[in-house]
Amino acid sequence: MATSFAYDVLVLGGGPGGYVAAIRAAQLGLKTALVEKEKLGGVCLNWGCIPSKSLIRNAEIVNLLGRGQEFGFQFDNLRLDYSVAVRRSRQNADRLVKGIGFLMKKNAVTVLTGTGVLADPHTVVVDGQAHTAAHIILATGARPALLPGLTADGERVLTYRQAIVQETLPRSLIIVGAGPIGMEFAYVYRAYGVEVTVVEMLPHVLPNEDDEVAEVVAKAFRKQGIRLFENTRTEQVEAGADGVRVTLKNQATGAVETISADQVLIAIGVRPNSDGIGLEAAGVRTDERGWVPVDAVMRTNVPHIFAIGDLTGKLALAHVASAQGIVAAETIAGVETMPIEDYGNMPRCTYCQPQVASLGLTEAQARARGYQIRVGKFPFQANGKALGLGEREGFVKIIADERYGEILGVHMVGPEVTELLPELSLARMMELTPAEIELFAGQLSAVLEYAAALQQVDTEDVPPTTSVLPLYNVMRDDEPEPSLPVEEALANAPDRQDGYFRVRAVLEGSS
Ligand SMILES: Cc1cc2nc3c(=O)[nH]c(=O)nc-3n(C[C@H](O)[C@H](O)[C@H](O)COP(=O)(O)OP(=O)(O)OC[C@H]3O[C@@H](n4cnc5c(N)ncnc54)[C@H](O)[C@@H]3O)c2cc1C
Repeated sequence: MATSFAYDVLVLGGGPGGYVAAIRAAQLGLKTALVEKEKLGGVCLNWGCIPSKSLIRNAEIVNLLGRGQEFGFQFDNLRLDYSVAVRRSRQNADRLVKGIGFLMKKNAVTVLTGTGVLADPHTVVVDGQAHTAAHIILATGARPALLPGLTADGERVLTYRQAIVQETLPRSLIIVGAGPIGMEFAYVYRAYGVEVTVVEMLPHVLPNEDDEVAEVVAKAFRKQGIRLFENTRTEQVEAGADGVRVTLKNQATGAVETISADQVLIAIGVRPNSDGIGLEAAGVRTDERGWVPVDAVMRTNVPHIFAIGDLTGKLALAHVASAQGIVAAETIAGVETMPIEDYGNMPRCTYCQPQVASLGLTEAQARARGYQIRVGKFPFQANGKALGLGEREGFVKIIADERYGEILGVHMVGPEVTELLPELSLARMMELTPAEIELFAGQLSAVLEYAAALQQVDTEDVPPTTSVLPLYNVMRDDEPEPSLPVEEALANAPDRQDGYFRVRAVLEGSS
């Protein structure tokens, strides 16, 4: 790209949106710089996804150790050291951050360390020094939202940023906000014996998830000893020398009560880092809440300036930021790309136990949009893998459009469900129907928790099965057991599109 600018592309912000965009731009032959004021990797690697998943792993192990009797092992004097868990999470974060530095070098991306501010539509000033670029990608992310008038002092009032590095545990903790971040912290702290209370303003925990999924998580959390207030507004937070007092109002009854704890963690969402970065000087518009609107290729209202990641207010997840970064870089380079029209295909995961994984519309959303739907549901109670793991709670729920069989939503809660989502995400993106997924899925997965749920929403009437199925055979619809082996049946199939042959999941030894 021949320009009179110093760079073809300058990326502002080095989180999972920014660093991925920079690498992709450089791979496509563009002269690229990336500005980062703090640490490469952004929130995800340093204070979000990566350290939190390490802490969650610790919490899972602690909880498992607490079930010794069930699994037949015993020990005396178990001692837990939470500071080791935090240090392990820091090591994992640091290791990956170093890796990003290496990738920058490998891909010849110039890293400019410092705070960047747009001075005009083609210039970013980094700590007093001006850098020009033909294209700019804004990837400054977001920061924790706080309640009005409240300051996070890191002692009594925390955001995720302080909680994730805190090595000593409070005796008691109130978490305001039951989204994925609040729920993951609740799970970790409770595993280590902290008295945890979670307060959610909306009718149920994990407010963006399907109602039935949230019910399972709420029940499991209560069993773990976590106190939950749903449909409850946090009216006031007072921090003192001895702890915090939080005043709550039940939205249904109007009842007011004050609870107290050593600390409060505010996890009510994020606000965009769009202030103070010179958007006005470059002519980039934000919406009334500060998010930067973009089209399907991440272009802002200024054609050569793009925005990606949390800053766009689309879906505050790391893989979404990265996907947007790739689309922006490819658009700038003028190569083929895959514009993002529908964020409903993006997988959403919460890694507490039980885990939650979803995509697309919830049942309530699908009905509200006027779809005639079929709902397929399969409980983990009947799943051999779940029984083996000793984690029986939860289910797989699939919502499909009755008329065309289009998958509208997938909602899973239970053991390791986050690992099950990618296949279904891909299937939905490729617009496969339940029957088509059944056809292929049998050859992809050894344990298909979602197979039975799929069959319930299959408008092409694949014969129903009773359980999750270790063995998949291809069989003629009209043919009794024993069925043909997969390869043989496929080889002999005259026309796999005519509906004559189906992949049918059958339990080994039964029809
Ligand atoms: C506790 C927690 C757990 C999470 N877990 C998950 C998870 O499991 N899965 C998932 O997908 N997502 C998770 N997320 C969300 C994920 O971290 C974010 O969606 C992701 O980091 C957004 O990436 P980004 O590139 O848009 O912004 P960020 O990661 O916020 O990066 C922005 C970067 O820009 C830099 N910056 C800002 N302004 C300037 C400036 N003026 N000059 C220079 N640099 C600047 C910042 O220092 C920062 O490094 C989690 C978040 C939290 C808080």
